[in-house]
Amino acid sequence: MSVVMVKKRLASGEPCRKCIQAEELLRSRGLWDSIDEVLWADELDPGSPGTLLAHRHQVAEAPFYVVDGDRVYTSTLLLAREVLRHRASTVVGATGESEDLDIGAAAVRLADATPKAIIRWALESFGSRTALAFSGAEDVVAVHLAAETGLPFELVTIDTGRLHPETYELIEAVRQRYGVDLVVAAPDTGELEALVNAKGLFSFYEDGHAECCEIRKVRPLGRALAGRPAWITGQRRDHGSATRSELAVVERDRVFGSAGRPLIKVNPLANWTSEQVWAFIREHQIPYNALHDRGYASIGCAPCTRAISAGESVRDGRWWWESDETRECGLHAPSSLDRRDR
Ligand code: SF4
Repeated sequence: MSVVMVKKRLASGEPCRKCIQAEELLRSRGLWDSIDEVLWADELDPGSPGTLLAHRHQVAEAPFYVVDGDRVYTSTLLLAREVLRHRASTVVGATGESEDLDIGAAAVRLADATPKAIIRWALESFGSRTALAFSGAEDVVAVHLAAETGLPFELVTIDTGRLHPETYELIEAVRQRYGVDLVVAAPDTGELEALVNAKGLFSFYEDGHAECCEIRKVRPLGRALAGRPAWITGQRRDHGSATRSELAVVERDRVFGSAGRPLIKVNPLANWTSEQVWAFIREHQIPYNALHDRGYASIGCAPCTRAISAGESVRDGRWWWESDETRECGLHAPSSLDRRDR
């Protein structure tokens, strides 16, 4: 299916007011990306492509839309209702069931797509039960882009109990600005008490972060993701760890999913660099974690995160007392711990 929109360009060079309003309406409903092509009917040029199309279909005024080369819509609302919404829900055979999708093919097809297009694909494919994981750091960009699609999703964040005050402030600022449903995943009280009563509050400095991360992060997220078809992360290739350098934009989740309970992980920011993320945050005046202004590049829990200096990598600010190989929290790569009882 193809959808062509014809807009009118006035002699002043500006689009006509109705055309501007039509585009705004489609954008506000998250349907703009379903328009394949825009042609102009130029007031000063009787031979402009949009004017010729208007003559061919005997349409007096733009905006209008041509679907599959012959069906004409002069009402934006009718087009949205009869064509674009249906198209959005069938573009990838959206059933909300991840088994129906060829994930490998989707990963190839979306490899160079924009983050917003990838998020749109995910939300259209997997529906409103899709979780967008928000850590309270630069992944706020994914929240902004998801909100822009106009499609429903659930924002999931993990309150480990050890976050910086600045991170809690950002999580709340994001909830209020975007008005999205926020699911706060917390550690199991019994597991946490058993850990801290046996080993104290800083055992990770002695025997590594895996055990604490498993209880405070991995298991809570696993519970929050249970029964969902897909989740969206803020992972990027330039985050620097070995597990992220080959990151695909779409993949099967090998940590929280299984053959019997498939879970798809979508990484829309995989291709973006830190520079692109920060340019986007500034351009759109998106709220961000105040710690970034104090030299923090990657932000996790307070005892396990520090600012980095010039020349250090992003991951040098996390679990700096451990070797490179172990510096993942277990959310994206299996930890050494047994998860059978997760
Ligand atoms: S980052 Fe540190 S405090 Fe937070 S869960 Fe992991 S080990 Fe525990």
